[in-house]
Amino acid sequence: MERRKFLLSLGVVSVAAGMEPFSKTLNTITNKLSPAGAGNLNRRNKMGKFELPQLPYSYDALEPYIDKQTMELHHSKHHNAYVTNLNNAVAGTDAEGKSLEEIIKNISKYPMAVRNNGGGVYNHNLFWQLMKPNGGGTPAGELGGAINSTFGSFDEFKKLFSTAAATRFGSGWAWLIVQNGKLIITSTQNQDSPEMDIADQKGTPILTLDVWEHAYYLKYQNRRPEYIENWWNVINWDEVARRFKEAK
Ligand code: MN
Repeated sequence: MERRKFLLSLGVVSVAAGMEPFSKTLNTITNKLSPAGAGNLNRRNKMGKFELPQLPYSYDALEPYIDKQTMELHHSKHHNAYVTNLNNAVAGTDAEGKSLEEIIKNISKYPMAVRNNGGGVYNHNLFWQLMKPNGGGTPAGELGGAINSTFGSFDEFKKLFSTAAATRFGSGWAWLIVQNGKLIITSTQNQDSPEMDIADQKGTPILTLDVWEHAYYLKYQNRRPEYIENWWNVINWDEVARRFKEAK
């Protein structure tokens, strides 16, 4: 706890001073020392407001597969706007004191602004954790075995997941979820999550891909399948495997 406070206070200093190299170092330190903190989907600040989590890597870390400008806009503008709008949407309601996870799981009780922006915050918090520089490859161990036995092979899984992502009409997300111990590929519209009580396919997400145009349009324009193909090179399989163990 003291360590997290210390790192948070460093974060404030580096942002205020606009020190890019130092903030990169900080990201590395935070990631190494506090993976649980970095993966906290319910992040709130001392005022009880939801806050934008730092990326666990720099904006250019996923080049050339996901470009720096897209990452910067996606995180500092799009994700940040969901945080701001969620804080506005829950202000003065009974959702104000609840964790984001609790809100998501009971989303049918809340107005559409909470569903859209709460999902927007929750999904992006997760998405960043599931990528890393020098990622990709194929998962080994229990997860690799479960993928092979469920889908036949990793290549078959990759094909099915990519198709789900490519064919999601309009804006949305593709998912690999654990439902009653089983792996399932699904997709959702807008900012909906398989953890929402309104989802057709409910389960615990262990891998997800943002297929909103803002996630790829600067680099790939209308070529969503090319973005999807490149994204396989930055998947953080260690984090997917960790979530799989927790979920099954
Ligand atoms: Mn997005």
